[in-house]
Formats: sequence, C-alpha cells, structure tokens
Amino acid sequence: MALAEQAKRVAAEFEFDADGVNKAVKEFMREMDEGLQREGTELSQIPTYVTAVPNGTEKGLYMSVDLGGTNFRVCSVRLHGNTTFSLTQSKVAIPRELMVAKTSKELFSFLAKQIEAFLKTHHEDHYAGHLRRRQTGDAIKEEEIFSLGFTFSFPVNQVGINKGMLMRWTKGFDIPDAVGKDVCALLQAEIDALHLPVRVAALVNDTVGTLMARSYQSPGKTGTLLGAIFGTGTNGAYVEKLNKVAKLIKNKDAGAYDKSTGEMVVNTEWGSFDNSLRTLPNTSYDIELDAKSVNPGIQMFEKRVSGMFLGEILRLALVTLLEDPNVPLFRDENSGTNDIHSTTQIHEGSPLFRQWGIDTSFLSICASDNSPGYKQIRQTLDRDYMISAVSAEDAEAVKEIAGAIAKRAARLSAVAIAAIVIDSGRLEKTPGAAATTEKKADVNPPRGDVESSGRGDVAEEDVIDIGADGSLVEFYPNFEDYIREALREIPEIGEAGEKRVRIGIAKDGSGVGAALIALVAGRVVDDAA
Ligand code: ADP
Ligand code: MG
Repeated sequence: MALAEQAKRVAAEFEFDADGVNKAVKEFMREMDEGLQREGTELSQIPTYVTAVPNGTEKGLYMSVDLGGTNFRVCSVRLHGNTTFSLTQSKVAIPRELMVAKTSKELFSFLAKQIEAFLKTHHEDHYAGHLRRRQTGDAIKEEEIFSLGFTFSFPVNQVGINKGMLMRWTKGFDIPDAVGKDVCALLQAEIDALHLPVRVAALVNDTVGTLMARSYQSPGKTGTLLGAIFGTGTNGAYVEKLNKVAKLIKNKDAGAYDKSTGEMVVNTEWGSFDNSLRTLPNTSYDIELDAKSVNPGIQMFEKRVSGMFLGEILRLALVTLLEDPNVPLFRDENSGTNDIHSTTQIHEGSPLFRQWGIDTSFLSICASDNSPGYKQIRQTLDRDYMISAVSAEDAEAVKEIAGAIAKRAARLSAVAIAAIVIDSGRLEKTPGAAATTEKKADVNPPRGDVESSGRGDVAEEDVIDIGADGSLVEFYPNFEDYIREALREIPEIGEAGEKRVRIGIAKDGSGVGAALIALVAGRVVDDAA
C-alpha cells in the first residue's frame, strides 16, 4: 500500500464523529451533575468559594503570587476599571533545595522575602511605611494593606476563599510537614514575621484565574461563563448556580461564602472526565501511552487533549508505522531523488525513539506548513528529530496523522465546552429577545494583549463568553475552528448557538485573575461586616 494511503488509514483511527461527540457531551453533563452531589466522582467539581465574576468596572491596586512547579511570580495589578489593567511582575526560580526543605517554614519564608523584595523595588511608598512601623511599632493602617491572591498549583482541599489544606505535593516538591496544613496561613505567618502590609485574601486555581481575568477584560456587560486551559494539561472552571452545588450546601464543615449572588465558580478538574472510557475514543496508541504513563487509568481526557500528550501520541503512531516493513515511511526508496547523498536516515539517538521525544509544538508546525514540498516540516524533522533527507511524501504522511490527532483533541475540547454551555441554560435565552441592556461605557478600548473571536453580528447580550489560556489553543493553527465545527454538530447548540459562543484568550490569567479574586474576596468580607 502506498504511504499516502497508510497515513490516511492511521489518521482515520483518530476520527471522532458527530455521534461520538454527542454521546460524550451527554456523559459529560451526567458527570458534571454527579460531581456536584458527592465526593470521589470522575469530575471532581470542586467548589471554589468564588461567588461572582468581574464585569470590568473593578478598580484598585492588588497583589498576586503564583507558586507553580518551577517559578515563583510576584505581581501587582492596577485595575483601571475600564476593562484594562497594568501589571508589574517579578519572577524567581524556586531553589531545588527548598522544594525538599526539612520544614515548610524554609519555603514559605523564602516566598515572603520575595514579596518583601518586590515591594521594596516596585512599591517604595508601601515599603517605607513598613520600615517606619518596624521602628515605631505602629499598627498597619487598613488602607495600606495589599490584598493578595495566592495561585497555588498543587492539590488542595479548599474550605474557604482563603483557606485550603495541602493534600499532597506533586512536581518534585516534598516537604512533609506542610501536608494537611492551610497553605494560606503558612504564607501569612511568614509575611507577618516580616511585618509586610499584605493580607492573603484568596487561594486561587489557575482555571479560576483565567475565568476571572477574561471576565474583567471581555467586552460587554455579561460575565464570562467558563475559563478553560489547554496547555501542558487541560482543565476548566465555570459559573454554576449555587443551589446546584449540593455537596457544598450539605457540608457542615464548609467555610463561609457569599450567598447573595446565587452563583459559585466550580473547578471541574475535567482532565479526569470519563476515566472509565464510556465515551472517549481509544486507539492502540492511547492505550500504549496510558500504560507507559506514571498514572495509568487517570486523567484519561487530558491524555487525549493536552500539550503534554499529543506529541507522544504522534510519536507512537509513527513508530508503529516504522515497525511495519511494508510501510515506506522514512525509507530511501521513497526519498524522491537520485542524489545518493540524500538517502533518508533516522540517526541514532533520534528523539523519535524516546518516550515524550516529540513536542506538541511540532503538530503546530505540521498544520501551518502548506508549502509545496513541506519545507518547514522536513527541516524540523532534520533539525529537531534527527531524521534527515526526508521526502515530501514522508512529510505529507506525518502532516496527515498529526492533523488528525490535533483535530480529535479539539473536538474533545468542544465536548467539555458544549456540556458547560448547554448546562448553563444561557442558550435558552432567545437571541435578540433580551431587553435593551445598559452597556458599559467605553466598551472596547484597544487592547494589545487580548484577542477574541466570535461572530460580529451577535448582539452583545446574547454572547456566551469563554476565556481560554494555554499554548495549544493559542498557537495550534486550527484549534478553535475545529472546536467550532464540532459545536455546530451538537443539536442543542447548532449553527445559531455556535455563533453566540465567543472564545477569547485570557493572558496573564494567574496574575490578573488572582488579583481579581483577592478583590471579590474583599467584597465578601465587606458584605459580611
Ligand atoms: P503551562 O501549561 O505550563 O502553563 P503552556 O500553556 O505554555 O504552559 O503549555 C505548554 C504545553 O504546550 C507543552 O505541552 C507544549 O508541548 C505545548 N506547546 C508549546 N508550544 C506549542 C505550539 N506552538 N503549539 C502547540 N502546542 C504547544
Ligand atoms: Mg498556564
């Protein structure tokens, strides 16, 4: 069989048709509901204690910090109240020895010192006040205190807007005495030890940050429905009706939250959607990837969707083709040239034969190269993957398979988005039927840092806004188009509904989003007072 046909055959294994999409949407909605009822379900549906999303008129100066796997970021964010903001930030690598420190105090005092250094450099006035107080022993004035949002990307059992117990460390961290403790309190204790004018006001998950950042920046008055991440991993947080969050309402140990909005942001942890594979597509490559992963049977949706895995799926598909002696992939007879110096060669040590050897950014290169002869693809195979003198036919075969893997990922992403859009009930409001709503002043100031797409002919009040973040959705050329195509194939959404969905990239989600959560957390305190 010719190479082109072999490639088409493999690509066809990644087809995820309209019927498959629709069955998965129904399952997603079932799991959403189940996760709101009780613990230990496939979708965790974690209540975040965030009960409102911003509308762009929020104002003030806030701080946020982000403890990721590798870096610690400190930001201050000035919200101008017209959907725009300015952000100042600093970033330091977390020293390896602190990741495995003997006591949590060592790590958290390091973090507090970074906050102190940031204040000294960027907010001298606040820092000067702090020095004065240190000398005179005066109390900190309430108006001088920064509210800070703490993005903490490890599993926590959140029991309040600024309270959450560390469940376990991941990503190479191991400081046993922190497990089971409230990470906000650990940080606050070290901030207080330095007498800094900072209050840890909110504990933040990065998807919630994305939702908040997008809602602040999006045009129009209607709040954003969903914040979604398609980067190394994938996850989403959305605005749910409070009375549906049964497990929170029933929980006697739940912390205080503002009930007046009737809503709460829920972190789905959708990477684990359908771990039992009732509706997810499952090729031999998916099975192999999962079996050789560190967590077989877990994060099954994520393993078909996110950046960490798509390159590896492609690699497994290519290696399987190479193992078949009848498939002329990367073979001399196919190199299409008479030049004896350009025989195709997979060099020893090629990443093609190493687990995780292909990066998902290669799928973007494949999708964007439509040149005759696929020069970009061939160059990348040569330079990054040590496969030299590849023919145009080889490159075309790789492109075909890579495209199919990415398209399936986008159609799966559409499943999650569709389920949340349908479940929200926002589609049931007839387009154009809404009374003329008062619009924000200065609706669309020019903004270099935010892109949004959607259909121009939809009235602002009918838009269903979604914030997205992550390199995959940002850089893969057709990712959003594929999502939209799948949305149209879902009867509850259709052409009319798809037009109403607006997807905007929410940059700086962790910085701006965490600051916005610190702001709304302050409101809860005010309301309760
Ligand atoms: P993080 O998830 O750590 O916040 P990113 O959003 O940048 O970081 O996502 C990183 C993931 O995106 C990696 O898995 C990487 O392989 C993938 N990636 C990076 N660049 C691209 C690209 N141009 N196209 C598609 N995927 C990409
Ligand atoms: Mg990210």
